[in-house]
Amino acid sequence: MSRPAKAIINLDALQHNYQLAKALSHKDGSDGKVIAVVKADAYGHGAVACAQALAYQADAFAVACIEEALELRNVGIEQPILLLEGFFEASELNDICRHKLDIVVQNNEQVSLLEQHPLSAQLTIWLKMDSGMNRVGLMPEEYRDIWMRLNALPRVGDIVLMTHLACADEAEDAGQSYTHHQLAVFEQNTLRLPGKRSIANSAGLVDYAHARADWNRPGLLLYGASPFEYEHPIEKQLQPVMELHSAIISIKDIPAGSRVGYGSQWVTQEPTRQGVIAIGYADGYPRHARNGTPILVNGKRVPIIGRVSMDMLTVDLTDIPEAKPGDPVVLWGGNLSASEVARQADTIPYQLLCNLNRVPVEYKHARSIISETV
Ligand SMILES: *Cc1c(COP(=O)(O)O)cnc(C)c1O
Repeated sequence: MSRPAKAIINLDALQHNYQLAKALSHKDGSDGKVIAVVKADAYGHGAVACAQALAYQADAFAVACIEEALELRNVGIEQPILLLEGFFEASELNDICRHKLDIVVQNNEQVSLLEQHPLSAQLTIWLKMDSGMNRVGLMPEEYRDIWMRLNALPRVGDIVLMTHLACADEAEDAGQSYTHHQLAVFEQNTLRLPGKRSIANSAGLVDYAHARADWNRPGLLLYGASPFEYEHPIEKQLQPVMELHSAIISIKDIPAGSRVGYGSQWVTQEPTRQGVIAIGYADGYPRHARNGTPILVNGKRVPIIGRVSMDMLTVDLTDIPEAKPGDPVVLWGGNLSASEVARQADTIPYQLLCNLNRVPVEYKHARSIISETV
């Protein structure tokens, strides 16, 4: 028998979530388009498989860098593909033109490089303003001048006006007022500039009518996880795309007072039926998952006890006496969201999904199963 850890990627769920994003972007009578963000190997779900599954639906795709874009072009993806960090050096511009990639321009160095290197084909540029995240993007004061400079270049085609929200996923007051501040800064400094606009990530698309614009850029939402750190009604409409599976590989009865795992960080208070699961941090399961983090065994929740190790973790099976070695377990997916596990590990679902590693991946699509290994 091979090691039972595996991820099952439900591509029908991905399509469902894309349609949900589409519906959100059509709210209030707007007709915004939806870029499927598939950077970082589609947040750990496999960029090629996900892009192919969305090839008939998606208005466009977005990735972080040219390597990720070429992977999609090489399997025949024809939609616009946006490089979210643009380009890092002039040598990339030829490939960018040849493969018709859209680029984000977010700093002065990129602007100068575009002025110095004549483009071999017409490019769409997404001009990013730093409206308050203070990471990348042009300062609001310089935005209009740079727009003019780029617009004067012969091979620059459409210029999409773009910004990124820092706090749209944050709870209530602080997040809301800062998001409205960013939206106002962006609006003020793009007044009367022609061109399409793009603002919203997943959280912006769900919660901020004024962030919904011509082009919306959801990532996490497509994978069926909520971007919000608190409970949010959108969760009911999302279908988790990834299910992380493994199985019980051993069961032992240990007496009260036993120290479990590395660092003996858990000590049993009572006689305990302890189970070992074949999954660990080398597979992407978070090492910092606290004691009590739930795992589904035969559909029932049991708590992790002791530290997560590289290839294994331990759970308390005392409450399910029928559990036996070989029984399947779910680490996240279905009724146990990656967001819930993330909270138990002081992290976010983004990181859990992206960190998937080593485990074989199976793709499920309209009743067919295709296997692959990451
Ligand atoms: C990654 C990314 C997104 C997607 O963000 P989610 O929170 O996953 O929806 C959108 N825009 C930009 C610029 C990004 O880098």
